[in-house]
Amino acid sequence: MIPSRSELLKKAASTELWDIIVIGGGATGLGKALDAASRGYSTLLLEAHDFGKGTSSKSTKLIHGGVRYLRQGNVKMVMKALRERGRLLKNAPHIVGPLQFVVPCYKWWHKLWHGIGMKVYDALARSLGIAPSRWLDFDSTISLLPGITKAGLRGGVSYWDGQFDDARLLISLAQTTVLNRGIPLNYMKVVGLTTFNGRTTGVEAIDQESGTAYSFEGKVVINATGAFTDQIRHMDQPSAKGIMQAAQGIHLVLDASFLSEKTAVMVPGTDDGRVIFGVPWHGKVLLGTTDTPRDTVSLEPKALEEEIDYLLDHAGRYFSMKPRRSDVLSVYAGLRPLVKANKETKAISRDHTIEVSKTGLVTITGGKWTTYRQMGEDAVNRAEKVAGFARRKCLTRNMALFDGSTLRDEESQEPDLPLEGFPYSTADIERAIQFEWPVSLEDMMARRTRCLLLNAAHSKLASLKIAEQMARAFHWTDEKKQTEIEQYAELVSMYEVTKDV
Ligand SMILES: Cc1cc2nc3c(=O)[nH]c(=O)nc-3n(C[C@H](O)[C@H](O)[C@H](O)COP(=O)(O)OP(=O)(O)OC[C@H]3O[C@@H](n4cnc5c(N)ncnc54)[C@H](O)[C@@H]3O)c2cc1C
Repeated sequence: MIPSRSELLKKAASTELWDIIVIGGGATGLGKALDAASRGYSTLLLEAHDFGKGTSSKSTKLIHGGVRYLRQGNVKMVMKALRERGRLLKNAPHIVGPLQFVVPCYKWWHKLWHGIGMKVYDALARSLGIAPSRWLDFDSTISLLPGITKAGLRGGVSYWDGQFDDARLLISLAQTTVLNRGIPLNYMKVVGLTTFNGRTTGVEAIDQESGTAYSFEGKVVINATGAFTDQIRHMDQPSAKGIMQAAQGIHLVLDASFLSEKTAVMVPGTDDGRVIFGVPWHGKVLLGTTDTPRDTVSLEPKALEEEIDYLLDHAGRYFSMKPRRSDVLSVYAGLRPLVKANKETKAISRDHTIEVSKTGLVTITGGKWTTYRQMGEDAVNRAEKVAGFARRKCLTRNMALFDGSTLRDEESQEPDLPLEGFPYSTADIERAIQFEWPVSLEDMMARRTRCLLLNAAHSKLASLKIAEQMARAFHWTDEKKQTEIEQYAELVSMYEVTKDV
């Protein structure tokens, strides 16, 4: 039902001309690939590393309208995102669910102000609202957020938004693309664009597993490479002015006892006007985020010490148990692909941008996870024009995304043992091996399961067991298995917080 990577690769190599080629396997790219494939276009997606290795596995895991954009007066963007939130809750209930948030208030007028703001947020969601917001007294606030600072607390405001597992949604999107006859390939890096008569006609790519070079021809090519957007734009037009201003955001992962196992907190006004979330996720709490402009881009950006201190400092003010560096289970960083407009990244609009170059390369960037489907629809509409295709109807608005948990490998004899300390079983690993195209141990630890994010240090131990399972399935030699374990341990060190600085 779901072909292996080598079967997908074989099919890709034997196809002479694609309707649409998408570069980049994050939320933006996979959203485009599913939209194009479901309209009936022959579609190829190429991802340089693993699906979600970029920003799309390092988000706050919220499917939301964006309360802070409401504060900035960007009502249109909030409404668009709330509409997409409603669709995702319906189309992917196996991965996206409702989550209750509380804004703790320490001044009576904050309670009034945020309460009115949330009523506006409710109204903007119209019929797609999850549940109405409401004012909370002191006791209800504490019972929802047992870990919140009690001194001076006047109560709070409760509202609802969506939450998900970002890397799992990507796999679901890739599987749904395959079921619509599209081909998503991970570990296939685009190294050049081909042109004929001044038009983009395809891409040159290198399989990162085998080193084999491929040339794929397409009627239209879409650049969906997030923070790496300018690298592809420069392959197209070496003199093109850069449009990307990446902004780094980090998260600290803490034990749920610091806040709550069920309810999220939103702190709307930090010293520098940011919003901070504390979000329960797979039994832990994610605390984030920051917004630090970065001039260089990397697939594995590192959290800065000052970003870690900033989050710990704010958690210290709002949590009654003050977290220390030694309490951080994992830290992860991602790059927001923002389009340059202003040096203050906070002032840059988070809406998406579509650009078509002289050669017909379609670039789409910006936006957010929540709006990936709308971005897909807009970019494919534009690609149709560029390629001269007759307009076909977008089908993704009400399309159910594939639920991979329904897949079973009947031949597997693996016992369904839980992995110590993590919400995964050996059967989950087996299913991922069979149907989710992991290539390395890291893919399994960081994105098929979320062990790396949930507890970096403990994940090293679990990785030994998972490496055994992968080695058996993929016929790794002992040497290969050892290299995978060592490379994973090296990555883990980037997700661990130095205890004292
Ligand atoms: C800290 C943080 C928190 C966030 N939280 C939320 C949230 O809670 N909710 C929300 O809606 N949004 C959130 N966002 C925004 C959202 O995560 C991003 O907008 C989205 O993930 C960007 O996806 P993308 O596909 O454009 O980029 P990416 O996910 O970075 O994907 C780009 C891909 O292109 C690939 N690529 C690069 N070069 C090549 C090449 N030459 N060949 C082939 N492939 C290539 C990369 O390997 C990468 O996988 C957050 C962002 C950040 C930074």
